[in-house]
Amino acid sequence: MKAVQVTGPHQLSIVEREKPVITNEHEVLVKVKMVGICGSDIHIYHGTNPLATLPRVIGHEVTGEVENVGEKVESVSAGDKVVIEPIQPCGDCYACRSGRGNVCSNLEVYGVHRDGGMQEYLVMPEKLVHKVSPELDWKESVLAEPFTIGAQATWRGNVRPGDTVFIMGAGPIGLCCLKVAKSIGATVIISDLNESRLDFAKEWGADHTIDASRLNVIDEVMELTKGEGANVVIDAVCIPQTFEQAIEIASAAGRVVVLGFDERPSPISQLPITKKEVTITGSRLQTNQFPGIIEMLNSRKIDTAGMVTQVFPLEQIHQAIQLIETSPEEVRKVVISFDQ
Ligand SMILES: [Zn+2]
Ligand SMILES: [Zn+2]
Repeated sequence: MKAVQVTGPHQLSIVEREKPVITNEHEVLVKVKMVGICGSDIHIYHGTNPLATLPRVIGHEVTGEVENVGEKVESVSAGDKVVIEPIQPCGDCYACRSGRGNVCSNLEVYGVHRDGGMQEYLVMPEKLVHKVSPELDWKESVLAEPFTIGAQATWRGNVRPGDTVFIMGAGPIGLCCLKVAKSIGATVIISDLNESRLDFAKEWGADHTIDASRLNVIDEVMELTKGEGANVVIDAVCIPQTFEQAIEIASAAGRVVVLGFDERPSPISQLPITKKEVTITGSRLQTNQFPGIIEMLNSRKIDTAGMVTQVFPLEQIHQAIQLIETSPEEVRKVVISFDQ
């Protein structure tokens, strides 16, 4: 079978591998159908993901069909359409004991610390394989994982009906946060530097958009919220300046959700945090978000139309990555199809 492997910075190739087999009764063999390309895959390709170990088969946004199951597997059977939950927590550390396995101190992420889904077949433990409706198109089910990231960020920000949520950045993560926040019943303002991304965000349900290339984001949000500020700010741009702005834009009793990995510090004073009792919270990967997102996808409560902008066959993985790198304004989610 074929697999997409990164062996070093800018060294990515399609390699021939032995098809994996089920080795214990709790495992599931999945025939991979579609895999999304994420920013973190690109970081591994560039050699700028400090967590990734090489050589590595990338890919963690995975959907496929169950081909075979171990004897004790009950939740899925051959022929089921499924999505993969790509994290393996240890189960013992403080985070795991607190029900937060996504920040497990010994966490292993498929496609980062372990081989991921960009291969024709994958063997996974049953608990990381979730069944989805057979009615879903592969282009819908492949979005389950990115939507769980949006669900986690809105959960961390405690988004409630009637809240005003300000999302910085209208890329795939910002858009997934937008859909989930709208489904909860929030009013959503979203900013970006790119006008066509903002137009799409509007189509996707944003109540207000702000072009950050020509407008002062803080003034705009304050005006839209009649001086109150945003009750929840989700920073999906993740640079030092946006973190600073987020604290300023948050309303009293507001929440700021941080998704970035930038190591540069942001100068933030104590005063606005204390005065407004702002909660600043990180959001990484997801915990227990797959069932809820799958339910919303199955019932079409989340309409994903337009998110997948390009589908490439496996053989064109290099062209797919090149497109993401050279024409970011033309892509939202680029996916690799194993069916062509
Ligand atoms: Zn991802
Ligand atoms: Zn743990």
